[in-house]
Amino acid sequence: MPQIIRNIPLQLSGGPAREAVAVGNNAAWLCPCGRTLPLLGRTHGSPGEAPANFRVACPDCKREFIIDPADDAPQGRAVQVREVPTTDAR
Ligand SMILES: [Zn+2]
Repeated sequence: MPQIIRNIPLQLSGGPAREAVAVGNNAAWLCPCGRTLPLLGRTHGSPGEAPANFRVACPDCKREFIIDPADDAPQGRAVQVREVPTTDAR
């Protein structure tokens, strides 16, 4: 049986939500900067903000994202990709 690709929300800061795709705890999405290749990452394990090593930074525009897992499953199935303030800005 093939792996099931699910569509999940991509929440951008200051923009309308788009869509990402997820397989299990992995997700891929297109960066709003126009980078041709998708960004790719996996869910974090903490209920609040993800640790820095779970962030995914776009190599082209430096936007940073985290992938939220389902509430009941740390590092579990991806339910949403969220843009977060860049680490450099803090
Ligand atoms: Zn980008």
